[in-house]
Amino acid sequence: MRPSVFFSAFEPLHEVPQICDVCQLDPPVLSFEFATTGESGEPEEQKGFCCRWCAAELLHKLERADAQRRAEEEAALKVDEFDIIDFEEPQLAGSYHG
Ligand SMILES: [Zn+2]
Repeated sequence: MRPSVFFSAFEPLHEVPQICDVCQLDPPVLSFEFATTGESGEPEEQKGFCCRWCAAELLHKLERADAQRRAEEEAALKVDEFDIIDFEEPQLAGSYHG
């Protein structure tokens, strides 16, 4: 699954916590749903209310999660490439001695 973050304004009448769920410091301004893949590959979801600072932090977190995912995919591709190179590599030592 792709990491994602979703922000929404909350209903004025909806029960809203006094402080941000993330930093526990500032009053929340948005509700959020943050979904990413944990180290075990299982989806991890975080939901709650966040202040504007933490909304920005969640975006950074998403960016990092996505970069991590891409790096892992690229690493997996490189392993595949190395496998192919290993199979196709000629026996140089033998040919140099002709
Ligand atoms: Zn916060």
